[in-house]
Amino acid sequence: MTKFEIRDLRADVLIGADERQEILKGVDLTINSGETHAIMGPNGSGKSTLAYAVAGHPKYEITGGDVLIDGESVLEMTVDERARAGLFLAMQYPVEVPGVSMSNFLRSAVTAVRGEAPKLRTFSKELQGSMSGLNIGSEFAARGVNEGFSGGEKKRHEILQLELLKPKLAILDETDSGLDVDALKVVSEGINRAKANSDVGIMLITHYTRILNYVTPDFVHVFAGGRVAESGGPELADVLEADGYERFAKAGASQ
Ligand code: ADP
Ligand code: MG
Ligand code: MG
Repeated sequence: MTKFEIRDLRADVLIGADERQEILKGVDLTINSGETHAIMGPNGSGKSTLAYAVAGHPKYEITGGDVLIDGESVLEMTVDERARAGLFLAMQYPVEVPGVSMSNFLRSAVTAVRGEAPKLRTFSKELQGSMSGLNIGSEFAARGVNEGFSGGEKKRHEILQLELLKPKLAILDETDSGLDVDALKVVSEGINRAKANSDVGIMLITHYTRILNYVTPDFVHVFAGGRVAESGGPELADVLEADGYERFAKAGASQ
């Protein structure tokens, strides 16, 4: 049982040498093992900033609050230490690493997180199994990390990493964006497999309700104006689908 807590988190985006802008204005969110929380909100509300701030991205500076895994703050941890503590953020990994094969990259990542190198044969089997489940051709194992990957292929590889790394808490930012219906189904099935095979807690950031037809959230949070503006069950997604974010966008703007 793991408890992931974001407490009154405040963060600035660092824009230039002495320019910054406060984006996160007191985010509160608790995710327990096995729970899926959808974070939904208008464009520009700070959803990706939340993901980057939790990841420890250098362009974002935490100015207040805390992020805890089982009561231990991750804010002083390096990106690698956060991964070892069980945090998974797809975009913490390099966008493109020419010359490093996917299989080598994934084995190193798994080694870093598990603290020991998996046996090559066992790992190859595991990798091939997950790849075929995600409709990723076996030739991808030898290709450079994300090198020349299409948007959809990158998204499938994010889920491949999720399946192999078996984190405690996964943050998936717009995993559904740019996917056609078939790819969306494959990616959703991968997320659901990860949920079924582990106790992973999931923060599923999305602008659209579409993916929630495949990955059922336990909780839905509306993110607006740099904070969680409203929380509810899956039915809140239906309200958003029908009414949009206008009400919340206004609430956020007035703060
Ligand atoms: P969302 O993911 O909800 O669409 P973002 O977190 O990407 O929102 O952006 C929130 C706000 O922060 C936006 O107004 C955006 O322009 C600003 N912002 C985010 N990152 C940067 C950056 N690197 N430089 C300048 N502004 C940024
Ligand atoms: Mg975003
Ligand atoms: Mg489960």
